[in-house]
Parts: sequence; structure tokens; C-alpha cells
Amino acid sequence: MNEFNEQGVKNVMEDIVYQKMESIIDSLGCCTCDKCKADIAAYVLNHVTPRYVASEKGELFSKVQELNQNSNTDILMKIVSASEIIKERPRHEKERIY
Ligand SMILES: [Zn+2]
Repeated sequence: MNEFNEQGVKNVMEDIVYQKMESIIDSLGCCTCDKCKADIAAYVLNHVTPRYVASEKGELFSKVQELNQNSNTDILMKIVSASEIIKERPRHEKERIY
């Protein structure tokens, strides 16, 4: 889980996206190493509206709100399309130059 940064704000979408990704990653058929997961999360987070909170109370409230909205499916769709992109060009293939 991500901690609050020095400014005391946190994007709860990061937790939400990571949790959803972890729950479906095995069915995506893509590489599940940390780099690919980070790539998928970054892609999704760049395509969803960030939701910043300034306290743990706000965090809880925002997460509950998020679950009540219909953005669930939207985030899942974005995770799937991100995995398609990462599947085609995994970042670590290029970096593997031992
Ligand atoms: Zn990988």
C-alpha cells in the first residue's frame, strides 16, 4: 500500500488499481513480474481520474465512493487493454542485457 507523501495527500486510485490488477492478473495471460505489473498500473493510472485524499478518513470514504460508482468495469477494461499492450512489448525484454 502507498503511504501518504510529505504533502499529506495520496491518490487512492493507486491502491484501487493495484488491488483490481492483482485480483485478475492471472487471467490476463501477460507477464506477472513486478516491472510488467508496474507498467500496467502506470498505464491505467494515466487513463483514470486521480482521486486525492488528505486523510485516512478521506481515503476510506473515497474508496467506498469509488466502489459505489460504475467505474469498476471501466478500470477493469483499462487493466485488460494495458495487459494487451504490455504483452506485446514487455519492457524488461529490452533491458535484459546481462
Ligand atoms: Zn514482465
